[in-house]
Amino acid sequence: MGETSTTTPVVTQTLGYPRIGHNRELKRALEGYWRGRIDEQALRTTFWQVANSGWEDQKRAGIDRIGVGGETLYDHVLDWTVRLGLIPKRFRDLEGLERYFAMARGQPGIAAFEMTKWFDTNYHYLVPEIEPDMEPAPDFSDFLELLRQAQTSLGDRAVPIVIGPLTFAYLSRTALDLDHVSSLLLPAYRDLLGALSTVRVPEVQFHEPVLVLSDVEEMRSTFERIYGDLAGVGIPINLVTYFDDVGAAYPWLVHLPVDVISLDLTRGDNLGLIQKFGWPQDKTLAAGLVDGRSVWRVRPQEVQVMLDTLAEAGLSAASGHLRFGISCSLQHVPYEVGRETALPDPLRGVLAFAREKLGELASLARGAFTEAQEAWDTFYAFSPADETVQERVHSLSEADFQRAQPYDQRRPLQVSLPLFPTTTIGSYPQTPEVRRLRARFRRGEISLSEYEAGIDAFIAYAVGVQDGLGLDVIVHGEFERSDMVEYFAQKLTGFAFTQHGWVQSFGSRYVRPPIIFGDVARREAMTVREFVVAQRFTHKPVKGMLTGPVTILNWSYPRIDVPHYETAYQIALALRDEIADLEAAGARVIQVDEPALREGLPLKRERWEEYLTWAVKAFRLATAKARPETQVHTHMCYAEFGDILASIEALDADVISIENARSDDATLRELAEFGYPREVGPGVYDIHSPVVPSVEFIEAKLRSFVQHLSPQQIWVNPDCGLKTRAWEEVIPSLRNMIKAVRRMREAFAASPQDAPTE
Ligand code: GLN
Ligand code: ZN
Repeated sequence: MGETSTTTPVVTQTLGYPRIGHNRELKRALEGYWRGRIDEQALRTTFWQVANSGWEDQKRAGIDRIGVGGETLYDHVLDWTVRLGLIPKRFRDLEGLERYFAMARGQPGIAAFEMTKWFDTNYHYLVPEIEPDMEPAPDFSDFLELLRQAQTSLGDRAVPIVIGPLTFAYLSRTALDLDHVSSLLLPAYRDLLGALSTVRVPEVQFHEPVLVLSDVEEMRSTFERIYGDLAGVGIPINLVTYFDDVGAAYPWLVHLPVDVISLDLTRGDNLGLIQKFGWPQDKTLAAGLVDGRSVWRVRPQEVQVMLDTLAEAGLSAASGHLRFGISCSLQHVPYEVGRETALPDPLRGVLAFAREKLGELASLARGAFTEAQEAWDTFYAFSPADETVQERVHSLSEADFQRAQPYDQRRPLQVSLPLFPTTTIGSYPQTPEVRRLRARFRRGEISLSEYEAGIDAFIAYAVGVQDGLGLDVIVHGEFERSDMVEYFAQKLTGFAFTQHGWVQSFGSRYVRPPIIFGDVARREAMTVREFVVAQRFTHKPVKGMLTGPVTILNWSYPRIDVPHYETAYQIALALRDEIADLEAAGARVIQVDEPALREGLPLKRERWEEYLTWAVKAFRLATAKARPETQVHTHMCYAEFGDILASIEALDADVISIENARSDDATLRELAEFGYPREVGPGVYDIHSPVVPSVEFIEAKLRSFVQHLSPQQIWVNPDCGLKTRAWEEVIPSLRNMIKAVRRMREAFAASPQDAPTE
């Protein structure tokens, strides 16, 4: 960019902003409201303060078109479900906030909406339900009020954010097809545009991220029809996509009757599409140059390439058809790096959260962005490459990914256990006492040896309970871990931690992901001490307990200058060393959790293969050098892996435990059809519920398992870790689990062939 751009600043836009409050105000208000400590008015006051501070941040940064509408009490998708008046029957007797939170969180006897991941982010939205006889009964008054409030602060910079009709329809749970649902919703969207024309907005953002999915071709005619209709209302439309390129949709997408198209230039290959097909003269491109999901500053060389490519397509600042934007909503990053005073300066210099990204966007629009290069140079001088780790990754060979013996040969060498072996997934209740102990240590109020003695007492108790109940494979209970990723990240090199870097996972639940900034290596053994302590208290095998490389990577902010597989391999090598240390300390069973393996799947199917290949290899790299005598377990918190079964098998784990209680044995059927040869522990009860499952309930589950799998394949365990439960729930539940197993063992020992199956 040269002189002209300095004199003609490019118009800038945002697509949404963090909405939880700089100090997590909304969380506190929500939880206070749910406990009856504050009233609705106080909750709403906090909401408006949080919304306002977001608008002020964006205004102060000089953003021209500020997206308004991501602000929410719980979830923006739920907000649109309510605004469109799509209220399932079970909520119809409720109203107002009571109904809203019942939809989000349930009420006794009323199930909440299902929650699922928002595309490939770590945000979870509530899935709208569209029943066949439903008639939308729209009421947009709260949205219009939001806009009016925003306008008092932002004037005509305020641009409404609306979830587009096709994306809304696509994300809903319904028996109807997309075209049908879109038509059902169309009158409501027309009403909405009508209402918006009364509040005088410069344009409307229709967010349609479904445009980046693989099956977008099938949506073409619906897109053309719906947007053809909406364009007729006369308000300029900004059609917004993000998280990937628009792929095969590009050639027709750019001819939809909209005024602006927002494309994410930081993910996928939208630049390549622009280069290949050109850009139509009559439309404005809002180029998402600043990555709204990474925590890093822009890298000047990359921006330069983007700008050059755009210029070649006739899109320059002077053309009047180019805007600069954030690639997606900033809700996926924390508020501001400025507050992270504990981070080293050279690292802070290259980090950018929401506020800093606004600043970058504004600089880009003025043609000034090369100053970031200096910060990057300083950072690399501060955080040089770890040659040893890099060399280790680059010199890997096939043998590093291969266990010494195939499954059927090594299995007889491993622990021998009774039929239907019992175990638990790892964590035991994180009681207030456990948390207090960790907090006191963190604050320096107790010494390391006092802390360890406290942890050991919790381990002793947990092991005693398991041994007393008669579990076959014991765990230490994970009392020293606040979080399964953070614990390991803190022990590895290359990770940094923020003090205030919270982002919304769902509703009032926020997470603070670690940032991977350097090469990852192990400093010392990470889990051996607790393993040894636990094993001292029992003769039964204790399971070593690790978080897998893909999960550690997927639940952190990754580097942008290193391919993901490389970081995953570095983490895997650290885990491999840990496994060797655990074996040396006597571990015969080691579990490597990978609950985030599936959620890392790319949005486009055609990229699944590539991801699964390196993800599976990372797991194998971590586990392959385990001795043949060591039984390797893995755990996944979900059951939907029918479509990745081959990859699950390729992990080459000896035992896998999975969520099952809520999924009707569907996965078991898939495993059976696939001919899955290994041992499987399908959860026998739902750990999310405080209800203690009865012996009969668990026995019935086990009897259904043997319909699909051979008894020799079946492990018995709960769905997931028990850290959110109380001991008063855990002990009777496990006692019933063991009783059910005894009944099964008796039945099968008496006569395996004619053991009753129903
Ligand atoms: N080992 C972990 C636990 O038991 C696994 C948790 C998870 O899968 N999310 O808590
Ligand atoms: Zn789990």
